[in-house]
Amino acid sequence: MSLSWEPVWEDYVAEYAGIRIKTRRDRTTGLIECPICGPTDKPVYLYTDKDLVMHLTAHARGMIVKPSRRAEEQEEQEEETLF
Ligand SMILES: [Zn+2]
Repeated sequence: MSLSWEPVWEDYVAEYAGIRIKTRRDRTTGLIECPICGPTDKPVYLYTDKDLVMHLTAHARGMIVKPSRRAEEQEEQEEETLF
């Protein structure tokens, strides 16, 4: 049994509460990709347009940091603790 799949991306415009976001959606599963988190080594996929808007709101409020930035910050913190 496999827990991964090969996504087939299509351009997609998510719309919720008057907000439109251009992103990608997997044709098979219907999962929507966060345009900030993905494509990175830790992409985030969401089920609905509302989920995406809520997720992006959390980005804007600084509650979610882009995965690659988070890794850089951890490296900086590790370096700081060495000295
Ligand atoms: Zn995200």
